[in-house]
Amino acid sequence: MSILVTGGAGYIGSHTCVELLNAGFDVVVVDNLTNSREITLKEVESITNKNLTLYSVDLLDSESLHKVFENHTIDAVIHFAGLKAVGESVEKPLYYYETNLRTTINLCKVMEAHHVHKLVFSSSATVYGIPEQVPVLETAPIQATNPYGRTKIMIEDILRDVAAASDKWSISLLRYFNPIGAHKSGRIGEEPSGIPNNLMPYITQVAVGIRDELSVFGDDYPTEDGTCVRDYIHVVDLALGHLKALEKLDSSSGTQAYNLGTGNGYSVFQVISAFEEASGKTIPKKVAPRRAGDAPVTYADATKAEQDLGWKAERGLLEMCEDSWRWQSHRSKQNAK
Ligand code: NAD
Ligand code: UDP
Repeated sequence: MSILVTGGAGYIGSHTCVELLNAGFDVVVVDNLTNSREITLKEVESITNKNLTLYSVDLLDSESLHKVFENHTIDAVIHFAGLKAVGESVEKPLYYYETNLRTTINLCKVMEAHHVHKLVFSSSATVYGIPEQVPVLETAPIQATNPYGRTKIMIEDILRDVAAASDKWSISLLRYFNPIGAHKSGRIGEEPSGIPNNLMPYITQVAVGIRDELSVFGDDYPTEDGTCVRDYIHVVDLALGHLKALEKLDSSSGTQAYNLGTGNGYSVFQVISAFEEASGKTIPKKVAPRRAGDAPVTYADATKAEQDLGWKAERGLLEMCEDSWRWQSHRSKQNAK
């Protein structure tokens, strides 16, 4: 079976390629490498001792995408490619709407032309905005606090319409909570360009001295220690969720949304403590004002994924921190060479 992975050179995509190759799938990656590097896929090949095919192609380029489908018999597509920085999406909304929506529309049109109708889409817990109730169920109201989040909501709507128009389609909308961690080998992991927006890459960069201190965005939330609570999920658990979703597409049609999270919430201070324990490093920090649009508390009810897909996150917070730390240490040593 051949799986086309868009954005396969990125953070979650590369970990998913490892699991796909390990499970015996043939993997074809389409990635324009705007937020990733080809070397990551070399690492994926070396970790798995298997080969994959990379097309350095922009999903906005339909002609090149057609050629990929002509060159391979694709059974299903996992669609990671897209822009994901919340702050940038506020500054450049048109760029975000154009890229995230048009890439997905192009992809679906090309899939349709080549009679490929199985799709797993990277959605996000951001579609729940600031949830009224936790744990969050898939049936919770959909709302977003920024353009990035709205692209995910719009794409989900587009995909539901596509599947409603023809029962050939089978589409899984995976709503990720907060992916952190890295592959055990320490050879692939999250590589933000510039100043990290997300908590874990910021912490790891403070730990290796790239940044001086972490700003904790608000300690006056109505939570146990005053900092925001999130559902952090190991990226390998997340990757394995995609394999389970793929399997399910064989026996289903239409669209289904699934929360991929652990069901546990941890505060910013708890994540810092766990990281300090895992790394033996102290993370200098200061409390800063709240960040606009942050939900005080969000964590998943992931029962549907467990019941329908037979998937459950297995890895705990300490392991996530150990693996993030191993990856960052490895990268810093490489950079120092
Ligand atoms: P990433 O930036 O590491 O990976 C995305 C990949 O897509 C990159 O390799 C990039 O080069 C590629 N890409 C971007 N635009 C492209 C285009 N026009 N054509 C071809 N390739 C293109 O991001 P990630 O963290 O691996 O996230 C993957 C997906 O999961 C994204 O859709 C993101 O919105 C979603 N998601 C991520 C998170 C998270 O915290 N990382 C949370 C929820 C959802
Ligand atoms: N956060 C923080 N400092 C940072 C980055 C993030 O205190 O430098 C907090 C942020 O306010 C949120 C949590 O860490 O409460 C997780 O943030 P992240 O951006 O990683 O995920 P998201 O907010 O998208 O769930």
